[in-house]
Amino acid sequence: MHKLQRLHPTLNAFTYQFEDALLLELRAAYLNQIEPFLAAPAQQYLFEGGQYFKLDLPNQDYHLCSYDTDPLLWISNNNAVTYLLFKRFFDQLGLAQALKQFCEYRRKIRMYSGFFVLGNRAPEPVWHYDYRPKVPAYTLITPLFDWLPEHGHLLYQLPNGQEQTYRYMCNEAIIFGEGFLHCTQPYDVSEHLRVLVSFTCGSDKLSYWPQLKSNIEEQSLYFALPCGHIYGSCHCLEPNILKKLLGILQFK
Ligand SMILES: [Zn+2]
Repeated sequence: MHKLQRLHPTLNAFTYQFEDALLLELRAAYLNQIEPFLAAPAQQYLFEGGQYFKLDLPNQDYHLCSYDTDPLLWISNNNAVTYLLFKRFFDQLGLAQALKQFCEYRRKIRMYSGFFVLGNRAPEPVWHYDYRPKVPAYTLITPLFDWLPEHGHLLYQLPNGQEQTYRYMCNEAIIFGEGFLHCTQPYDVSEHLRVLVSFTCGSDKLSYWPQLKSNIEEQSLYFALPCGHIYGSCHCLEPNILKKLLGILQFK
């Protein structure tokens, strides 16, 4: 069983090593289902940034989005089959167990949604936090393939404002939560795509959903809520009377 190693004593961020075999299934899915679509000349505009993108890939197994004008594409699981592809990676990492000592939970740590994160340039740093203060949720990021030296790593800030670089490496993930200020290290246009795997995970306490909602909903259409239900098929947040009615309707 691998351990979370704190990136810095004052930061809510960790590194975690794992066996390369855990990525084989995700690599095959990326090479078969995503790379051919993105390699087409018609898709090259996506990597130029400057616009906000939200679109389904042609087979609808994945959904693509970007933030603001940043040329970084988040391609999320968009149905049960692709969700489970990332969920198997999450389960095999043993991260749900490892995170328990750092993340508030009721029974277990959940995976919310999985992503391939792609780009071929980063013109400027886009500093941000992934979560609102005190929200018990985490983002994992790790390279899908051997790392190329021309690609940008991850910049982060210490509490005193000092800038540091986390260097991506194969078979090591970085995992960070609220309070971790970070961005992609700027790098020039590359002829090779920079491909990362990512997922969001965290507390199974539904009381945190209102604070988590905007982050998770902006990134993907298909995701699990803290209760474990898939968004759209969950009545946990409905008032009791409505829940009862929906229960009756479901049995008809
Ligand atoms: Zn639910």
